Amino acid sequence: MYTLLRPHLYVSSVFDIDFARLYRRGIRGLVVDLDNTLVPWNQREVTPAVAAWFRRARAAGLTCCIVSNNHDERVRGFAESVGAARIARAGKPRRRAFSRAMAAMQTHAGSTAVIGDQVFTDILGGNRLGLFTILVQPVAEHEFWGTRLLRRLEALVRRRLILGGGTPQSWGEG
Ligand SMILES: [Mg+2]
Repeated sequence: MYTLLRPHLYVSSVFDIDFARLYRRGIRGLVVDLDNTLVPWNQREVTPAVAAWFRRARAAGLTCCIVSNNHDERVRGFAESVGAARIARAGKPRRRAFSRAMAAMQTHAGSTAVIGDQVFTDILGGNRLGLFTILVQPVAEHEFWGTRLLRRLEALVRRRLILGGGTPQSWGEG
C-alpha cells in the first residue's frame, strides 16, 4: 500500500520539473492536476507563468491533459486557455480518468507522467496504473474542507513513512 502512495519524484512546484529529462525518460504525455498544482484552489485566472509552462511542455514534445476532480465549468475554461485536453469530475484515484487521458494523448502507462499535489488522488491513481508520478507542494493553503482532511493524513505519510524528512527533492535525488 505504501508503495502505491510513494511518488517517483517530489519537487517544490511544477516549475521545477525538467521537461527535457522527462522526454529522455520516454515520457510523451502529462496528466496534470489543476487545483493547488497549477493555481490556488478555484482561482479562475491562468497566470502568465502557467501559460508559459504549457507552451514549454509542448515545445519539449509533451502533450498535456488536465485531469481534475473539480466540475467541468471550472476545468474547461482553464484547459482551453492553455491549449490542453481536459477531463473533469475525474474521480481520482479511480483509474478510469487516467486511462481516458492516456487515450486522448495517445500515450500509454510507460510514456505518461502524472503531476499533482495530492498523494491520495494524483499519486495513488497514477501509481495504480504504473505511470511516472510527480508530487508537488500545494500552491495555496486555502482549500476545500475534504482536501484539508486528507492533508493531515498526507502529512503523516510524508513524515513517517515515505519521504524521510518530508522535504522536496532536487531532481537528481528523484
Ligand atoms: Mg490538487
